[in-house]
Amino acid sequence: MSVRLRQLFSRFTADRQVRLGLLVSTPEPGELESLDLLLGHPLLTAASEPLGRALLDPYFPAPMLAQTIFADVTGMRFFINKNRPDLEPVLARELIEWCAAFARIREDLAAHFDPAAVTCIPLDGRRHPLPEAQWCSLCGLCCRIGGVPPEPPAGTRHPDHWAAILSGSELSNQQLCPFLFQYFGEPRYFCSIHQIKPIACRTFDRHDCQRRLAEPDLHAPAPAGTAAESVRPLPQRARGIDLEP
Ligand code: SF4
Repeated sequence: MSVRLRQLFSRFTADRQVRLGLLVSTPEPGELESLDLLLGHPLLTAASEPLGRALLDPYFPAPMLAQTIFADVTGMRFFINKNRPDLEPVLARELIEWCAAFARIREDLAAHFDPAAVTCIPLDGRRHPLPEAQWCSLCGLCCRIGGVPPEPPAGTRHPDHWAAILSGSELSNQQLCPFLFQYFGEPRYFCSIHQIKPIACRTFDRHDCQRRLAEPDLHAPAPAGTAAESVRPLPQRARGIDLEP
């Protein structure tokens, strides 16, 4: 039986998180065997170059994709096993689309905004400390969404095509906001446009957070000990970014 796309992505995610933890942000070509195996999947080879660039970005939130796109769906009255062979083309398309949106956002931030000031840390690939002593633990769970009203805050103009990405109409099946970045392989996630995020996100407050954390998850937990498992919501703790407008 051929190796499933989910298994290949899970292996890459685990390897990548370890490397980021070792402060290795940009492996040489061929250095990550798990990446080569993933990109060698017949459904991904045609898009291997842009996929590789996105997947090796130090802010790419691979465990979150493992917890959404690639996770079994269990929270409804049906069950979707993402190892089903007939779902392989769907998973491949969703991964390609998500990576393309992530890459475009990276380019947009450099072209239209100041990457040093658009979010809570400078986006220069260095480990600037995240803000501390805030109520948000940066678990990223609230960003597992299909979209938000794409209205920017007063005085800000988003690139026109962001409306489709923000509202969830750009991707075939958006389960995770493409503006969500990961902090160097750690189970901490931040909004890449924190300073200019849509009004709906700016008004999401501590009470909304508590409600969201109490909601059942649609996706099955990842097996214990895997990289994806490490993104399960953390208990509230006094660290994170200030989400107040
Ligand atoms: S702690 Fe709450 S507001 Fe912060 S990322 Fe998690 S769900 Fe969102």
